[in-house]
Amino acid sequence: MLPVGRPSGGGIAGTAGFVNVAGIAGIAGILASLAIVRRERRPRESPFATSTEGEKRCPSCGMGNQVVDRTCISCGADLPG
Ligand SMILES: [Zn+2]
Repeated sequence: MLPVGRPSGGGIAGTAGFVNVAGIAGIAGILASLAIVRRERRPRESPFATSTEGEKRCPSCGMGNQVVDRTCISCGADLPG
């Protein structure tokens, strides 16, 4: 007779799998942090700078549109004014 359904090393395999997943998650977290730091270090040069003057904020999605725009560039909703 063959031993059917015998848990051969199931516990050990499960532990190794858990450690592996945790390691991958840690590496992914480190990579994500590096990506964020890189993005923040990059100087942002925008002609619109940080001023919100002359902007119309979309009531639907909150996207800042130019005051001359009639519809949102992001979601296409009608802008007030
Ligand atoms: Zn919108």
